[in-house]
Amino acid sequence: MNVSVVLFTADLRLHDHPPLSAALDSCGGSGHVVPLFVRDRSVAAAGFDAPNRLAFLADCLRDLDAGLRERGGRLVVRSGDVVEEVCRVVLEADADEVHMAADVSAFARRREARLRRALEAEGRRLHVHETVTTAVPPGLLTPSSTDHFAVFTPYFRHWSQHRLRDALRAPRSVRVPDGVGSDGVPSRTGLSGVSEALARGGEKEGRKRLTAWLRGGLAGYADRQDDLAGDATSRLSPHLHFGTLSPVELVHRARRAGGPGAEAFVRQLAWRDFHRQVLAARPAASTADYRTKHDRWRTERTAGADIAAWRAGRTGYPLVDAAMRQLRHEGWMHNRARLLTASFLAKTLYVDWRVGARHFLDLLVDGDVASNQLNWQWMAGTGTDSRPNRVLNPVTQAKRYDPRGTYVRRWVPELAPLDGPALFEPWRLAEDDRAALGYPGPIVGLSAGLARFRRARGREE
Ligand code: FAD
Repeated sequence: MNVSVVLFTADLRLHDHPPLSAALDSCGGSGHVVPLFVRDRSVAAAGFDAPNRLAFLADCLRDLDAGLRERGGRLVVRSGDVVEEVCRVVLEADADEVHMAADVSAFARRREARLRRALEAEGRRLHVHETVTTAVPPGLLTPSSTDHFAVFTPYFRHWSQHRLRDALRAPRSVRVPDGVGSDGVPSRTGLSGVSEALARGGEKEGRKRLTAWLRGGLAGYADRQDDLAGDATSRLSPHLHFGTLSPVELVHRARRAGGPGAEAFVRQLAWRDFHRQVLAARPAASTADYRTKHDRWRTERTAGADIAAWRAGRTGYPLVDAAMRQLRHEGWMHNRARLLTASFLAKTLYVDWRVGARHFLDLLVDGDVASNQLNWQWMAGTGTDSRPNRVLNPVTQAKRYDPRGTYVRRWVPELAPLDGPALFEPWRLAEDDRAALGYPGPIVGLSAGLARFRRARGREE
């Protein structure tokens, strides 16, 4: 009897799952597969086990187990070192091969290399499948002179012309051999530190959200994607992060829907692949400047009070504070708000982008090394932005993207009684009136912040 192990990582789904389909094909009608997830202790050791993502992950694993059970199988969950656990399961099930998805972080690539060596030492094979966690594999599209695209527009041109593989159906049945022990599927119950309004995880939930999005929000996306109060983006990012939805399937389905909304949405999915191909080529960019500007950033030691105010949503800038409070409450933040809060920390406060990126990773349910670190670098001007010294003004941004102040009032209830210009610039109120609201004054003047940043970058004006 042929047996294959399918190691699930950031691909917690049954639809369009190349490793699972390949394992089932290679086992033929008479074979078995072991769907395996390892709760890797090194993820916790590296500080990546944020409560919001653990809760979402638990939902995903429960749903994956349920989906496998509907097909006659089950999910095997183990805890420990991923390589040791996979090898144990391979021996217990007497499996010939292991299938898994390719991924881009330095952590994922070390895991793959260690696993390959360990399996080869046991005379087993590792098959690593592309286009599971990205639509287009990192490294496939390159400019003529170097190993990756550092500019999005030409990347997107090539990306758009690339012919994607077809999406695969979910398997009808999955047979798992007896005698392979499981630690049991975790649950989110009892986890502490989880955001109050955290989204629910799992493939069924993701597919429901996707169908609703294609029918409802997608058509208006091009016009409304920056409307903060309208909340008119897909909110599919955690499903893409955990792989409960397939990027390949998403691109196909959005393209089939057609129209300017679909075009704009597919472009955002290409941004996700873009950052992944950068990280794959430059793994150090998760912690080191991609293009250094020789910044001498302020840090926790020199700017502790400012950083604390930023984290708490008490900077005195309504839109920044609204966004930071949304992050804490939902474990998610709108893209426009991520851009503004990142610009405010890295440029207006001139604090090391890594401090902000860490805070985002501690809370974001979609917190992802490629998308988070490289977007932070983009906004800090150490990444791929062709205008590295751009600074977003929180007042101008509020007037443009939250003109009625609905988003601010939703998240900063102290300011709910205000209207008109006072809502954008509450510091213009009389001192007593502002103090009565219980809302802080600005922790930095915008011109002072801008002047400090320009001095630091050697661009005095
Ligand atoms: P939609 O607008 O519906 O877009 C669809 C999908 O496209 C998203 O789900 C996402 O997968 C992808 N996408 C959209 N914009 C980007 C982008 N700029 N870069 C990469 N992918 C994108 N995204 C994450 O998934 N994880 C992160 O940790 C993360 N950190 C960020 C940090 C900063 C400072 C900034 C500026 C952006 C960050 N983003 C991150 C990108 C983006 O903000 C989110 O993907 C988006 O807000 C998720 O909401 P949505 O699913 O409704 O997006």
